[in-house]
Amino acid sequence: MTVDICACGAPRRPGGSDCRECHRKTVKRYRERQARHRQVQDQLIENLTVNNRDTREKFEARCKTRFVVVLAGPGEEVDDFAGMVASFHPMGMLTVVDTDGRSHSVPLHKVKEDIGRKNYGISQ
Ligand SMILES: [Zn+2]
Repeated sequence: MTVDICACGAPRRPGGSDCRECHRKTVKRYRERQARHRQVQDQLIENLTVNNRDTREKFEARCKTRFVVVLAGPGEEVDDFAGMVASFHPMGMLTVVDTDGRSHSVPLHKVKEDIGRKNYGISQ
């Protein structure tokens, strides 16, 4: 005869290997672990994308989205390019990833919100 008793001594759930109470605790532990895992991931993303709060706030005051156009300064060899801001660094420096996946260090003042994003590679 099988003993329908959970490890804790309470009757098992019908068809279950533990009682209602233990099952509830197991589910709760599982959910807590999931939540912790998500939190760690969020923090990682936060660390990767938001390094410097001061620079980020200055950027957000200028641009509503992360999609930007980087304007080449006068006499510079590089062309303007469109990209996405990947991280914020102290002293108003940004890392912008262009449509080819290359990253560039760009000072905040050379970045402009990419209003006509449809004209650039990202969505093409
Ligand atoms: Zn139990």
